[in-house]
Amino acid sequence: MKARDPIADLRRIAFLLERANEATYRVRAFRSAAKALAGLSATEVADRAGNGTLTELAGVGDVTARCVAESLAGEEPVYLRRLVATEGSDLDAEATALRAALRGDCHTHSDWSDGGSPIEEMALAAVELGHEYLVLTDHSPRLTVARGLTAARLRRQLDHVAQVNAALPEGFRILTGIEVDILADGSLDQDDELLARLDVVVGSVHSNLKDERSKMTRRMLTAVANPHLDILGHVTGRMVSSRPAGVTGPGDRGHRARTRAESDFDADAVFAACAEHDTAVEINSRPERQDPPKRLIRRALEAGCRFAINTDAHAPGQLDWQRFGCERAALCGVPADRVVNTWSAEQLVDWTHNRA
Ligand SMILES: [Zn+2]
Ligand SMILES: [Zn+2]
Repeated sequence: MKARDPIADLRRIAFLLERANEATYRVRAFRSAAKALAGLSATEVADRAGNGTLTELAGVGDVTARCVAESLAGEEPVYLRRLVATEGSDLDAEATALRAALRGDCHTHSDWSDGGSPIEEMALAAVELGHEYLVLTDHSPRLTVARGLTAARLRRQLDHVAQVNAALPEGFRILTGIEVDILADGSLDQDDELLARLDVVVGSVHSNLKDERSKMTRRMLTAVANPHLDILGHVTGRMVSSRPAGVTGPGDRGHRARTRAESDFDADAVFAACAEHDTAVEINSRPERQDPPKRLIRRALEAGCRFAINTDAHAPGQLDWQRFGCERAALCGVPADRVVNTWSAEQLVDWTHNRA
């Protein structure tokens, strides 16, 4: 394919961001990258894109370097394509519409693991929010710091959920589930028989987050290919801020406040596998996670993935955090029909049980 002009693409992105009244620092990233490239010959730009040294230039970061590489490969940069796709749309209205389309939440915790409230309290809050279902996804055994459930405790929880469901209002139900640890070898930290029995399985990496790239990629690919895994949770493991105001105290023991870099893995390979195996990519709404970052949401969308916009709530009030995930999804142009929790409970469970 014929190479595009990377500087023109960077300037176009900056222009569209400015017109959309986006944060100045975002605009500046593209303007300063365009300026840095303008001082080089076309050959040097191409060489640096080829050997991955664009980011050594002052003013060029990972995101802008990727745009340049895509331009030089003759593709319209994904970042630009998504901006054009969402241009002129009222993102606030779209985020609101997306939130209104959500019928449940697929990632929540109770005091059976590291949540702060009983299952009943979480369910009642979900009813009040207008949800039709809540998937209860307490942690798996190896996550001992979060009081992960052994197989025996999970079986007891399933019996308990059946009792709670019987007492809840018509038209609402708790779906059974787990946030299962993706172990170092990519296997899942719970018995297959139990995983098969649960309505929804969210799988997340919680340990060895600094595994080197090829190892982490292999680990995630193995998990995504596991037919029990329905949703890949907080994909990069990053923590972008310390605990925000109002997110304090018990009920959040498993998610301590600190910043943490993203895990390093081949996101395109992982998202391609998610699309192939029809595993949904979670958009985690927690303010301190905001995971995946928007550039990766855009790439997952390009790859054809489905999404689940989840709160990862550890307390009833946090069930209302879906709005944050919807805002980020809208910014990336994620349509409602790609989001599995816009479905009814029946459709969701059909999907999880019939996936290849
Ligand atoms: Zn988690
Ligand atoms: Zn969680």
